[in-house]
Amino acid sequence: MLKKSDKKLTKEEQLLQDHKMIRESLKDKKRIVVKIGSSSVIHEATGGLDFVKLEKLARYLTDLHNQGKDVVLVSSGAIGMGVKALGLPKRPASIARSQACAAVGQGYLIGVYERFFKEYNQQIAQILITKETMINNERRVNARNTFIELLDMGVIPIVNENDTVATEEIEFGDNDTLAAIVCALVKGDLLILLTDIDGFYTDDPHKNPSAQIIPMVEQIDENIEGMAKGVTSRYGTGGMATKIAAANICNDSGADMIIASGAKAENLNKIMDGEPLGTIFKAHKRPDFHLISYLENKPYMED
Ligand code: GLU
Repeated sequence: MLKKSDKKLTKEEQLLQDHKMIRESLKDKKRIVVKIGSSSVIHEATGGLDFVKLEKLARYLTDLHNQGKDVVLVSSGAIGMGVKALGLPKRPASIARSQACAAVGQGYLIGVYERFFKEYNQQIAQILITKETMINNERRVNARNTFIELLDMGVIPIVNENDTVATEEIEFGDNDTLAAIVCALVKGDLLILLTDIDGFYTDDPHKNPSAQIIPMVEQIDENIEGMAKGVTSRYGTGGMATKIAAANICNDSGADMIIASGAKAENLNKIMDGEPLGTIFKAHKRPDFHLISYLENKPYMED
């Protein structure tokens, strides 16, 4: 006869137990990349920066670093900040003008981060990346070396796409993909995407009220890819498909990835404390993982 503790778990119970364990294991992560989207750093109604959130983010990221973890922040918001600083009524349609906005906004954005991180004696650095940089073997190695040196010296690199020079043919286009590439490049073990949706849903929650959040994705299969289609972000550039693409890169490279709401900076702390926020995509490192083939062939974008 089976003792109570030997009771065979149902598939659902086993999943719940796995989920709990993987969430608890997040405390032990060593190198974490956090991505925050434009819609999470900018107030939608006015286009102004959410200073309270950025201030908290700087505090929480510094605290993670003080716990002995390496931390990288990928922050969007350059174009949006440029639009605001230049007093434009809305995001420009032309690429050249958007790039000009990014040139103004990126400086402003990093200046704000600089001030907040300084409050906590945390050194930061700015790294701007283009897809071209990542495809070129020499430059990719250079970028990786720079990241590693910075992390070794206890710096938190703040990354964005170099929007002022990246046009359609050479751009990542969305910071979800960029963040996943950065995570793979620095051999991070966790990527957290803080975004305008609170997790991965079975269907578009804006259109289908019975859509349900999936707490854990063990394997990205056709079913999951099908659910992601058509779920667009309201304000940022990346919809759910780009997040699945990011999860593919991350998971294949050996990192877990979480999609969670960026509405509150506190969510970052809750996630690191093991609370089951958003959706976690489980890592399954491919022994043959080569970042360059993801960059060149975009297998993560195939449908
Ligand atoms: N790099 C763009 C910016 O900083 C944002 C891209 C994105 O939203 O994913 O404005």
